[in-house]
Amino acid sequence: MKILETKDLKKYYGEGNNLVKALDGVSLSIEEGELVAIVGCSGSGKSTLLHMLGGLDYPTSGTVHVAGKDIFKLNETELTIFRRRKIGFVFQSYNLVPILNVYENIVLPMELDGRKPDQKYVGDILDMLGIADKVDRLPGQLSGGQQQRVAIARALVTKPSIVLADEPTGNLDSRTTQEVLGLLKLTGERFHQTIIMITHNEALAQLCDRVIHIEDGKITDDYSTCGGVSYEK
Ligand code: ADP
Ligand code: MG
Repeated sequence: MKILETKDLKKYYGEGNNLVKALDGVSLSIEEGELVAIVGCSGSGKSTLLHMLGGLDYPTSGTVHVAGKDIFKLNETELTIFRRRKIGFVFQSYNLVPILNVYENIVLPMELDGRKPDQKYVGDILDMLGIADKVDRLPGQLSGGQQQRVAIARALVTKPSIVLADEPTGNLDSRTTQEVLGLLKLTGERFHQTIIMITHNEALAQLCDRVIHIEDGKITDDYSTCGGVSYEK
């Protein structure tokens, strides 16, 4: 099933001499369950694309359909609810709340949505990500790799159908990078999620199902790989 589709998506910033075409006519279609890498140089429009896919920002023109729904036809409240329930974001900078402990950070999206966290499911995620013994720690007491795992757990807690990750391994060493990708893949398979991940790392991209290259706001290449990472817990 097609889970995500963009048609002639454009995002322009500024005007006149300062006009930046961050996205300049992106049309793509992503199947449910795909693990997609988005690759491109700095400034090529990757984050802008991810933000549009998740309804974090409005495009200048074009459409984004998620599970058949035109998300930019929703009003602001509906869009917020859609985002909370359907999309899990993993930001490169983790965006953890420093004064909340690991557990509180992870369940925050549920609480913002007025829902009770499913304790068993939270426990499963914590086990899978290997951070079950860290729930009482503050983010500042964790390594970068551990903080990234917390950010991933937080993205998964609402059982989103789509996980959008902006350079989730950008600050990690190569071993942890492999591990984080393996975990994303594992959780994706386990919870039937579609995962779209931005990366600078071409080798890492090859471990995804599909690689989309972006240059100057346009797709320049889009292909399936025969790779795939296996992850042993
Ligand atoms: P990437 O994630 O690939 O590094 P971005 O999507 O962040 O690229 O940015 C694409 C282009 O859009 C860049 O030229 C960037 O400077 C510009 N851009 C991004 N966000 C804004 C903004 N809020 N205002 C003005 N220009 C922006
Ligand atoms: Mg970026």
